[in-house]
Amino acid sequence: MCRHLLYLGEPARVSSLVLEPSHSLLRQSWAPRLAGGHSTVNADGFGIGWYGQDGPVRYRRSTPMWGDENLPALANATVATAILAAVRSATPGMPVGDAACAPFGSDGWLFSHNGFIAGWPDSIAKLAERLPITDLLTVDAPTDSAFTWTMVRHLLRSGEQPDAALITTVAEIAAAAPASRLNFLLTDGVRGYASCVGHSLFVRCLPGQVVIASEPFDDHPAWTSIPDNHLLTTEPSGYTLEEL
Ligand code: GLN
Repeated sequence: MCRHLLYLGEPARVSSLVLEPSHSLLRQSWAPRLAGGHSTVNADGFGIGWYGQDGPVRYRRSTPMWGDENLPALANATVATAILAAVRSATPGMPVGDAACAPFGSDGWLFSHNGFIAGWPDSIAKLAERLPITDLLTVDAPTDSAFTWTMVRHLLRSGEQPDAALITTVAEIAAAAPASRLNFLLTDGVRGYASCVGHSLFVRCLPGQVVIASEPFDDHPAWTSIPDNHLLTTEPSGYTLEEL
């Protein structure tokens, strides 16, 4: 169980989303509330992606979020209109390393996966065979999440719309590996797309901003739980839900 969040809206300081809230991602890295029995800490690294002048920038570390001495100053100095952040609890069998931490990304996209692919890697061998070798050779890390991003990226590069790319990826992985948990976040810095398949997901919509998160990071009454097996599409002004 990892925990992730996506913010879209008026310029916000990374620290105001990731470090300062009463139940921030920082706190969720050692005391998640909605672990659901899957794990107790998210200490196998973290990552933050935000949109700067020239597109997305990523900062990923394999240390627990609480142990990074550089993060408080960096997060305090960074202001953005789109921010995707995650803390990681490595699925058993997956390696730990900077490159295994979300967000994954390229071509102006940022992506995160909360969950796992059941029966990895044998269950998705046929899906992997369909990917071009150049895609397989540029996987960030030998993990289910990095592979999932490679599937989504391939569909986006083939001209698929982002919501359709997530829907197809969920359907194909769920068919090949039925017990998988597939909570994805995807953004181009303007719009956000999130699947809720097997893990908790919440949305908080306030004037001029929206946050999607694995669990609420504060006690604001606007947090709304997303039902399982749904795709959420959002921009700062609101969101829509579609059953998967
Ligand atoms: N399976 C992914 C990994 O190992 C994500 C883990 C999670 O959601 N806990 O990185």
